[in-house]
Amino acid sequence: MAVPWYPRSCAALAAALTLLLVTGCGGGDVPSPAVESSSPAVGRSSPAPGPLSSSPAAPTPGAGPDGGGSVEEDIQAAVSVTNTYWQTHWSQLFTSGYGPPRVAGAYDGDTPGTPVCGGAPLPDDNAVYCPDGDYIAWDMDLMRWGHARGDAWVYLVIAHEWGHAVQNRLDAGLVDLARELQADCLAGAVLFGAAQDGTLTFEDGDTEELADALTALADRTPWTDVSDHGDASQRVSYFSRGARSGVKSCLPTGVQ
Ligand SMILES: [Zn+2]
Repeated sequence: MAVPWYPRSCAALAAALTLLLVTGCGGGDVPSPAVESSSPAVGRSSPAPGPLSSSPAAPTPGAGPDGGGSVEEDIQAAVSVTNTYWQTHWSQLFTSGYGPPRVAGAYDGDTPGTPVCGGAPLPDDNAVYCPDGDYIAWDMDLMRWGHARGDAWVYLVIAHEWGHAVQNRLDAGLVDLARELQADCLAGAVLFGAAQDGTLTFEDGDTEELADALTALADRTPWTDVSDHGDASQRVSYFSRGARSGVKSCLPTGVQ
């Protein structure tokens, strides 16, 4: 993904979405179900992955058709694009005012001194929105591992965690019980909305990378509980709904 060159046409976006929908349910070649969570205190609902950095399937960083930005540059761009989207559109969507969460940034869950959220250290190889402190943070191992698969990874993770910050700013009635899937939907709305705004450009392969990332980060079982992320097809489906129909389509039925 790149920031920003030119607005993409709606036709190109529609084609990209079709690709996303088609490729999203495939899965299969993902080595481990790396789980990310909105709440670091919540245990993983699927088997814990091995260390992300040791995955033999991870491709060489910088490979592929991506723009070639470093993981740090892409993270910075993703933060900027996501915040700009919400800042621009918030007043069209909600009656309250918008303020961004704090971006605490990178941590290393492997080392002593990991930041805490609600008294617990932030989880290894994960990314979080911490309501206690209203901040977003990510383990750089997760970002590096995902970025090596494709730069869209970091955009998804940032937009998803930002979605949790948004949930925390909304009335309870606007927050879906399936919080993780709603955060995916909001991420789709933001990234594709940003493309329509001209603040983000999709490059060849980005939609496949998004589907790959959603699949890699999915649970192995379908959503049943508020802490679940949902399985791969559910995550792709919710992300795609937001991408296709925007933020309002992510709100619970009846309040849209
Ligand atoms: Zn989440």
